[in-house]
Amino acid sequence: MENLKIAIIGAGSAVFSMKIVSDLCKVQKLKGSHVVLMDIDERRLHNVYVLTKELSRVFDANLDIETTTDMQKAIEGADFVINTAMAGGHDYLDKVRAIGEKHGYYRGIDAQNYNFVSDYLNLTNWNQFSLFLKIAKMIEKFAPNAWYLQAANPVFEGTTLVSTQTSIKMVGFCHGHYAVESLANLIGVKEYDWQVGGVNHGIWLTKFTTKDGKDLYPEIDKYKGKIQHKPSNPFDDQLSPVAWDMYDFYGLFPIGDTVRNSTWKYHRDLETKKRWYGEPWGGADSELGWKWYVEQLYKVVEIINQFATAIENGLTLEKVKDSMNLMPWLEDDWKNMVNELLDSEKLSGEQHVPFIDSVVNGTKRRFVVNMINKGKIKGIDDDVAVEICAWVSGENIEFEETHLPERVINWYIKPRVLLAKQALEAFLKKDTKLVADIIERDWRTKSSEQVKKLIDELYPFVIAEMKKIIEN
Ligand code: NAD
Repeated sequence: MENLKIAIIGAGSAVFSMKIVSDLCKVQKLKGSHVVLMDIDERRLHNVYVLTKELSRVFDANLDIETTTDMQKAIEGADFVINTAMAGGHDYLDKVRAIGEKHGYYRGIDAQNYNFVSDYLNLTNWNQFSLFLKIAKMIEKFAPNAWYLQAANPVFEGTTLVSTQTSIKMVGFCHGHYAVESLANLIGVKEYDWQVGGVNHGIWLTKFTTKDGKDLYPEIDKYKGKIQHKPSNPFDDQLSPVAWDMYDFYGLFPIGDTVRNSTWKYHRDLETKKRWYGEPWGGADSELGWKWYVEQLYKVVEIINQFATAIENGLTLEKVKDSMNLMPWLEDDWKNMVNELLDSEKLSGEQHVPFIDSVVNGTKRRFVVNMINKGKIKGIDDDVAVEICAWVSGENIEFEETHLPERVINWYIKPRVLLAKQALEAFLKKDTKLVADIIERDWRTKSSEQVKKLIDELYPFVIAEMKKIIEN
């Protein structure tokens, strides 16, 4: 497609920026695209611009790269808008969590049954929801045919909100399903068929077979109770006792971040978390695990900064690669990052750019998408987003038939959907009484006075941060 315009909102994201722009440089049929990088942080924006330009040179991608801090300019006439922005950044997450903890809510009030992921706020992120709607409404007005690709969290609430409040084409993406590989490695299969389904961060292994259709669940069962789980990092939880315990209760294996999104049974305090998710961190969402993660992210931002500065001073990415052995201070992770960035055959694993390629160039591929349910998975409300396997070719999307057992639907999905709907209603009505009512039902609440003090301190801040998004 000629003159393809792709806008990336929040292009300075620690998690996504380099992955998405390097994928754009590597996919042959997207070469020559007009890429608009948008962020409010000018330093991050500039660094990503420098590296995108360099990657475009390395891969001969001929991208027409533009940067802007003006969202409307980025969106106007776009064919695809990818949103990786996080309103308020990690500082905001820390602040709302700290206020919650001050009032007796361990890990903050957004930590709720089925929603423990620490950058997945749904009760206090009225700024992030406002940002999602702002982007979506601008797309409706200035780029009505564009696809909106949601990477920023919360993907479940975000996809539900935008899809029910606007008429734009929208899909949410997450990379959690890759954790199926851990189970394949466990049982030693290389070739297999799989399917996941549910809601974002609440997905289940609905199919796991050999290529000729033999069920592989019995192979998993052979390892029940036999694994000594010693996590290599806080996110290494796919084979943790939590995952096995959830499998035991729900009858299907939970996949990816679903293992983090369980109940208070595994999250009550740090000791409980350590017991279930493993020492020393107690999983990604404990005070220790999350600190580890945020430090990694800041390192990514810093390394991008260093690379961009070096490139502006005349270094090339090829030279960086050749001389990495002379950089003993550069950790292996960063060396791997550079090697992967420069490997023309290897895409990042994020689905956004392959999705764009499939839509624009008709290359049929399988994705795990988040889209409004409307009957795609029985037992889940029609008006919320489901996460489901789908084949995409052009604008044609075929959803795989996906069945979830009653135990998963009634004991996991329904309460999770209810929380999302309550959180979205409170946001849409800007009604802190609704939030207070959710908190009244919270096991950490000892008195209504505690709830009142919490809301009185937290929500003036939440509302002020939301106004910054709406008014700027
Ligand atoms: P980050 O803070 O490093 O990056 C977010 C970027 O958004 C920053 O560059 C910031 O300047 C920018 N930004 C903030 N407000 C903005 C605004 N109003 N307009 C434009 N840009 C703005 O955060 P991160 O750790 O990279 O995470 C980014 C998002 O991705 C988060 O929502 C996170 O939860 C989500 N995430 C999603 C997945 C997934 O698989 N879908 C995985 C990990 C993280």
